[in-house]
Amino acid sequence: MKVVVSDSMNPGALEKVKETGAEIVYKPDSLEDAVSDAEVLVVRSATKVTEGLVSGAPSLKAVIRGGVGLDNIDQEACKKRGIEVANTPGASTNAVAELALSLILATSRNVQKAHFTMKQGSWEKKALAGYEVKGKTLGLVGCGRIGSLLAEKAAALGMNVLGFNPPPRHESTTITYVESLDELFWDSDIISLHVPLSPSTENLLNAEAFSKMKEGAVVINTSRGPVINEDALYDACSSGRVGAAALDVFWEEPYKGKLLELENVFFTPHLGASTAEAQIRIGEEIAAKIRSLM
Ligand code: NAD
Repeated sequence: MKVVVSDSMNPGALEKVKETGAEIVYKPDSLEDAVSDAEVLVVRSATKVTEGLVSGAPSLKAVIRGGVGLDNIDQEACKKRGIEVANTPGASTNAVAELALSLILATSRNVQKAHFTMKQGSWEKKALAGYEVKGKTLGLVGCGRIGSLLAEKAAALGMNVLGFNPPPRHESTTITYVESLDELFWDSDIISLHVPLSPSTENLLNAEAFSKMKEGAVVINTSRGPVINEDALYDACSSGRVGAAALDVFWEEPYKGKLLELENVFFTPHLGASTAEAQIRIGEEIAAKIRSLM
């Protein structure tokens, strides 16, 4: 079985894929040439799996996305050709939930600003006083695998957790579900996004949404960049309506846009799944899928 791995993969994860015994072509110079006789294509988020690409791959049985979101894969085009589309849904859940939690805590205690001001030689003890998350309300937009795991971690810190997720939804002892996004915006001190990117979630946080949030609310995005309208976020963070934002994901990555100018917006370069443990789990889940196709 010929398997083309088109995006960079952690060496430990690649090792798991090689252990399947399949012929592995890693990061070929020409993806079109490599997939023309391949049975499996493994991608992360960089490769765009387009109709054009799959139409030139007559032997392709499956496209496997190492990760969760399938927004870089033309699923309709795959379906038309009988190509299965799979992902590794659980592999990065804990890693993303921990990143979201670390952004919530770092922002509450000004860790990012403290680091940079000290590196610049200053000692801003008074200016960098923060707040405690205990007793604050965390509003989760999307309460699937990542959202509901984050809810447990946040509840352990003494946070109240609200969730908005249309049914069917995870049973949870830690999340109080609200029936509208507006309710979540009105009542949350910190809002964290955990929805997939789809036509219904693109620009979900727009100017109107920010206008309904508590003055000074904090916004965390580890889902997908286009879930937030970046121009509206710029205005909301400039005016102070949104007190701070921490972003792991962007409309265009690598991100070079104007939010970088703002002092109350913090950034990580799409690190959600970037832990050693998650990468190995991704490799294991991809390998299991390849074995099932052999
Ligand atoms: P999941 O499918 O388990 O959960 C998503 C939840 O969102 C579901 O319960 C769904 O019902 C809900 N939902 C869908 N549309 C909604 C809407 N309009 N409003 C409210 N809820 C809605 O997915 P997951 O594993 O929790 O992952 C969530 C997202 O996290 C992924 O789709 C991906 O985009 C993102 N992600 C990011 C990284 C990263 O590196 N930053 C890594 C992995 C996943």
